[in-house]
Amino acid sequence: MLDIFCRDKHGSAGALCPECIELLDYAMAKLVKCPFGEEKPSCARCTVHCYQPAMRARAQEVMKHAGPRMLKSHPILAARHMLHGVLRKPRQKSVK
Ligand SMILES: [Zn+2]
Repeated sequence: MLDIFCRDKHGSAGALCPECIELLDYAMAKLVKCPFGEEKPSCARCTVHCYQPAMRARAQEVMKHAGPRMLKSHPILAARHMLHGVLRKPRQKSVK
């Protein structure tokens, strides 16, 4: 996803630019620390908003840009990703 974004927005070919590598590293580090682990819902549904606002904004920009393009070039992957988000809804117990 990030590679689509970087290629279109930053004109990189093949490898990611330093800015995108930073974002990727950040995302990976967060994923490792995520309390949901393998059960992690897609970030849009995640109950733990672990990203710092600046990084979150960048990640959202990537999703917004690459999302529709991914749907075109990898419809099955994209569908699986969305399905994953729907099925892996975090169990929320309403605490009153
Ligand atoms: Zn980039």
